[in-house]
Amino acid sequence: MTIKNRLRILVVEDEEAIRTGLEDLLVFHGYAVEGCADGRRGLDLAMSGTFDLVLLDIMLPGLDGYAICERIRAQDREQPIVMLTARSADDDIVKGLSLGADDYVSKPFSVAELMLRVEAVLRRSRAGTEIANRIRLGADVDIDVRNLSGTRGDEALEFTRREMEVLQYLHAHGDRAVSREELLNKVWGYSRTADIETRTVDIHIARLRRKIEADSGSPVYLLTVRGAGYRLVGGD
Ligand code: CA
Repeated sequence: MTIKNRLRILVVEDEEAIRTGLEDLLVFHGYAVEGCADGRRGLDLAMSGTFDLVLLDIMLPGLDGYAICERIRAQDREQPIVMLTARSADDDIVKGLSLGADDYVSKPFSVAELMLRVEAVLRRSRAGTEIANRIRLGADVDIDVRNLSGTRGDEALEFTRREMEVLQYLHAHGDRAVSREELLNKVWGYSRTADIETRTVDIHIARLRRKIEADSGSPVYLLTVRGAGYRLVGGD
């Protein structure tokens, strides 16, 4: 239960009875839940990248579930998304899945069915996260993840466990920028980051740069993406 307690689910659903019912049910099953009734707000929350799963209604005020799904997918291929569709609305289901949703649940749904779907999608997404044992950056940096060590040219490198976890996370998501909030959530395990001093992330990034980047000039591997966070490039 301790790991499950930290999993966060976003529920975007404008029908209050359904949304609060889902929130209560998921909290009861040990998840941290955030509910939202508006499509645009839902998109913003989903794009923060801090949710393990997004439960997404289709007809929403502001922005519909298809558009939200499409926008999430454009940024993050791995974000688990489950669409909430009307019973027997085959077109909705096909459209949702073709836009990249992982699964769907038809309303009205049974509690058992919903929990099965949620748990299955979460299990698949966690199993699919590959951990690299070796991270190579450009021609000169070679990092041995398990031994917390590496080399840059002739120079030996050593990393703390947390520095390596940050590197691994950035490497695993190298196709996009990762926000400070996401790093605090996924690497440090903080479920709520609003009140947390964020310099801890900046300090780790600075320490990593001193190790993997050349002594002079701008970073070429661990980049700052303005307004979005950090991105590790040049790796294989
Ligand atoms: Ca709706």
